[in-house]
Amino acid sequence: MNNKIYFTPGPSELYPTVRQHMITALDEKIGVISHRSKKFEEVYKTASDNLKTLLELPLNYEVLFLSSANEIWERIIQNCVERKSFHCVNGSFSKRFYEFAGELGRVAYKEEAAFGKGFYPANINVPADAEIICLTHNETSSGVSMPVEDINTFRDKNKDALIFVDAVSSIPYPKFDWTKIDSVFFSVQKCFGLPAGLGVWIVNDRVIAKSKALLSQGQSIGTYHTIPSMLEKASVNQTPETPNAMNIFLLGKVTTDMLQISADGIRKQTEEKASLINKYIESSKVFSFGVEDARLRSMTTIVANTTMLPGDINKILEQFDMSVGAGYGSKKETQIRIANFPAHSLEQVQKLVKTLQEKIG
Ligand SMILES: *Cc1c(COP(=O)(O)O)cnc(C)c1O
Repeated sequence: MNNKIYFTPGPSELYPTVRQHMITALDEKIGVISHRSKKFEEVYKTASDNLKTLLELPLNYEVLFLSSANEIWERIIQNCVERKSFHCVNGSFSKRFYEFAGELGRVAYKEEAAFGKGFYPANINVPADAEIICLTHNETSSGVSMPVEDINTFRDKNKDALIFVDAVSSIPYPKFDWTKIDSVFFSVQKCFGLPAGLGVWIVNDRVIAKSKALLSQGQSIGTYHTIPSMLEKASVNQTPETPNAMNIFLLGKVTTDMLQISADGIRKQTEEKASLINKYIESSKVFSFGVEDARLRSMTTIVANTTMLPGDINKILEQFDMSVGAGYGSKKETQIRIANFPAHSLEQVQKLVKTLQEKIG
């Protein structure tokens, strides 16, 4: 039995109700039934409808199920870029998305910020021929966030470009203005507290139109997971391929549970827990904020510089059945990352902070 609480930023703790929902899924043979059956269509519809409610999606948005955020990065480039994309790059995830565009033969522009730094959109000039703008709401490697108000400023200056937001490690925390962007995507092993292997891609009519335009002008936009082929199946609550039905089922269940709390309720809890962690970091002798600009500090992935090795911190935390994430990449010995996801309860965060305070200072 593993009783440890994982404050690692993905995979991370499962939402507390997942165990029971998994048993229900087995009892209902969700992993066995056909993905062309009525039962599966209900499972699909529950997950899709719940997301539309939880995230307050307008009617011109569709929800599509894929396998991961990595897959969605690739599908965005294939479906929506004829030649040129633009990316704000300030860490490993946003950089990888940028690289995908080049690997798929597109011209990728970037605005780059140093690790731990964010963007000041007033200073950014997106080239006029960039067809899409790729932003990362929460750069999980560095703990830098792009506030929704900042995301909202891109539209006015770049009317024609499609705006894509990677919100993998923050949604449902950010309250997006859906009229200022065109697409958001995430995978479920971060803030939805589920096992990995399911990506969710939210697209509006402009994104759909772009993929259809590229297809009709003879460009290859992929095979089974093109937007038109996914939409055709989505219209009957199905997917082109045999999907991760278990996870779509679990997502339907967990979003039902989240709707009980409401998205605003989750936001409030997230802020309350983040402020406990931040207050501790501020007072600690070992830790300091990894992100200097307080306005750009992530609420869901809190990154701290550490003078103690993350491995040694985790050795202490292990005695209390807890662990935190090490820094990402080159920061793996000088930073820690603490996930503050909806699956982490206030009590668990209090226990983490108290233990760190007492044992590390
Ligand atoms: C984890 C993460 C990804 C990648 O998700 P996968 O499900 O592994 O493809 C992409 N972007 C961000 C910001 C992430 O945190």
